[in-house]
Amino acid sequence: MDENYQSLVGFISEKSGLPAAEIERKIEAKQAKLSGLISKTGAAQIIAAELNISFDKQVIKINQISPGMRKINLHGKIISLFPVRGYNKNGRSGRIGSFVLADETSNVRVVLWDENHIELISKGELFQECFVEIINATLRNGEIHLTSFSEIKPSDKIIVEVVTKKPLVSKNIGSFNVNDNVSTRAFIVQMFEPKFFYVCPGCKKKASESGECLEHGKIVPEKRALLNFVIDDGTGSIRSILFAEQLEKIMTKEELGTPELFSMKKQDLLGKEMVLIGQVKKNNVYNNEEFVVSGMEEINLDRLIEELEK
Ligand SMILES: [Zn+2]
Repeated sequence: MDENYQSLVGFISEKSGLPAAEIERKIEAKQAKLSGLISKTGAAQIIAAELNISFDKQVIKINQISPGMRKINLHGKIISLFPVRGYNKNGRSGRIGSFVLADETSNVRVVLWDENHIELISKGELFQECFVEIINATLRNGEIHLTSFSEIKPSDKIIVEVVTKKPLVSKNIGSFNVNDNVSTRAFIVQMFEPKFFYVCPGCKKKASESGECLEHGKIVPEKRALLNFVIDDGTGSIRSILFAEQLEKIMTKEELGTPELFSMKKQDLLGKEMVLIGQVKKNNVYNNEEFVVSGMEEINLDRLIEELEK
């Protein structure tokens, strides 16, 4: 809230050309005049209106985008530009362009539907690494969409450091999509026996138990474990996989290798609520989705968020 207020003061100051301290004085005076019946943020909005500043044109940061927002204005850098492709669906055909836009707070996929916008890519006016300004875009399924009512143009405003790592989103299993990097809370409802396989210590690729690597010939193979289990959060369930290093954080080698110990550990974990981080992948063999877990621990959300923010 306070951060919001500060950015509001900054915005009004920038648009009006008045110093931030003066804006704050105006806001406080307005608040006092209204006998404190209005919040600081509310008073700031009145001051903005009095100074003829419209919020419609406000450029927001990518991490401020939230569901239900209309007329979204953004400024950022194109960090990956995808090839323009054609579509033909339900009797409608055309082209779509897309790229990932990043600013100093996050990144988001942007989809272009308007031929005039797509033309900017063909003409080389929009390219990878260039900065752009987007006006009047909409949010659909977590992506930014531009229609013929939207505007996009190259910008000479530079952001020195942009966030290129795919943001981790917190989601329920019911809304998982393939390739999502997600954090979710769910219960372990089913667990299978661990599986073992062998890798070459040199290239980490699969090797035979007898110690043959396709690339390195005779080697001493390393034994690795993987664990399959099912998680459920009430909105859906998904088969999950935990590999060697991550697996060893919750289970010792002895527990994995000794059926009695494994069985006890399994009883202990079944029904537990966990925070899991991982990526949703498509399993082409079974033609279903699976969750490849890269981190998992018992519910301690505060600590997890703290770690993720580091
Ligand atoms: Zn090898």
